Amino acid sequence: MKKMTKVMATVIAMAMIICGLTACGGEAKSNTIKFGTNAEFPPFEFVAANGVIGQFDGIDIAIAKQIAEDNGMTAEIENMEFDSLLIAIQNGQIDAAIAGMTIKEERKEKVDFSIPYYQATQVMIVKEDSDIQKASDMADKKICVIQGYTGEICVKEMGYPYESFKKGTEAVLELVNGKCDVVVIDAATAKKYVQDNAGLKIVEDAEAFEGEEYAIAVKKGNTELLDKINKSLEKMLSDGTIADLGIKYSVAE
Ligand code: GLN
Repeated sequence: MKKMTKVMATVIAMAMIICGLTACGGEAKSNTIKFGTNAEFPPFEFVAANGVIGQFDGIDIAIAKQIAEDNGMTAEIENMEFDSLLIAIQNGQIDAAIAGMTIKEERKEKVDFSIPYYQATQVMIVKEDSDIQKASDMADKKICVIQGYTGEICVKEMGYPYESFKKGTEAVLELVNGKCDVVVIDAATAKKYVQDNAGLKIVEDAEAFEGEEYAIAVKKGNTELLDKINKSLEKMLSDGTIADLGIKYSVAE
């Protein structure tokens, strides 16, 4: 009898080890959420010496961390080009993309979006002495955009020629150096660039640029993760966490 119990215990122990190794009884559950971002988009994501997660900091990075925390998980950040984010979700390299990403119909065909967490719009950054006052004034000007951003989509739809850059900083440098006349980019990021570079100003045209909404993207059909993200976002929107992050990371009014 005693021997029997011992054998049983050994069998159970072995089964537990094997199960542990192979994760029987269902898919192995990871305790991390791998977020992809493009840390070239202050104040939402940027590279800092010491960030909220590793070297990364910004509103989105803080939101990612909170989503993981709310679900008893850890957030990992993978930095990549903005253009690669949707593919990285589709092929499982990352679980979600948090990158100040605007909900667009063409993107919805590739990924599922969370509830929106931030209202944005495109603006024009110009030199202080520029005569550009509205979007149509860009018609005969040299326009710079960032590849794959909604700013590029807007200018393309307006039918104006433009040059696209990989990074916002590159486009802004072009403007500072007088090699282009206007950069079209999201308002909060534009504000940061204008603050960091002397001699620039922002021109708004609410009629020409529609309102945009940022959301987090996940793989199509990944409702399990999407539910976690949405619940956490709802909480952060209603308790003021996201509004506070906006104040903390944005340029002072
Ligand atoms: N909101 C813009 C877009 O979705 C820019 C986002 C970004 O650069 N991170 O295209």
